Amino acid sequence: MQAVRAAIADAAETCGRAPQDIELLAVSKTFSADAVREAYDAGQRLFGENYVQEGLDKIAALQDLQIAWHFIGPIQSNKTRPIAEHFNWVHGIERLKIAERLSAQRPAGLPPLQVCLQVNVSGEASKSGVTPDEAETLAHDIAALPNLHLRGLMTVPAPSDDIAEQRAAFAQLRVLFERLKRDGLQLDTLSMGMSHDFPAAIAEGATLVRIGSAIFGNRIYHKETT
Ligand SMILES: *Cc1c(COP(=O)(O)O)cnc(C)c1O
Repeated sequence: MQAVRAAIADAAETCGRAPQDIELLAVSKTFSADAVREAYDAGQRLFGENYVQEGLDKIAALQDLQIAWHFIGPIQSNKTRPIAEHFNWVHGIERLKIAERLSAQRPAGLPPLQVCLQVNVSGEASKSGVTPDEAETLAHDIAALPNLHLRGLMTVPAPSDDIAEQRAAFAQLRVLFERLKRDGLQLDTLSMGMSHDFPAAIAEGATLVRIGSAIFGNRIYHKETT
């Protein structure tokens, strides 16, 4: 955890950014509630989960902690209700229908669900997310929903070991983000960068990096429930 924080600060300073302008989302999928509690005790407050049932189990087990829970996995339309009821953020929105369901199912009395629109910046190499061209209309439609607060954009580029290639993908998301803001959308979150590419994402303006294995170690998938 501290090593990852130091690496984020390092990447920020290298490109003249303030480390505190980059939030760390600890991706705890496949790791136990005890592992989350340990990271919490080390000061971590934002945690990301990919699988609904696994996330709900941890949220229930850790109710005594002040955690902001981010859902970052793919969303099936029959699983929107528990997400709307129990998570604070959702990063992987790529269909208006899902956004509408989350808004309708967000319980009265809770603050709006904070959401990011997932954009595919890698063309055919990736299946998840809308194209940059589709993003504009969808972003405006999502921003109009009453119980969602559109905070920004998220992407998972096709993996690459080449820093220039990583940066080119993240730069596309940044350019789109700036364009949507010029169009009048009030966005503040660029959710990009994972364990293998977060320095490139930070160099291109990431405000939130989603990091799992660099914090918790390699994942062993037993059973993928969604
Ligand atoms: C698993 C996951 C991460 C974290 O990946 P690491 O390579 O372990 O850092 C980040 N974002 C999403 C959407 C993920 O599914």
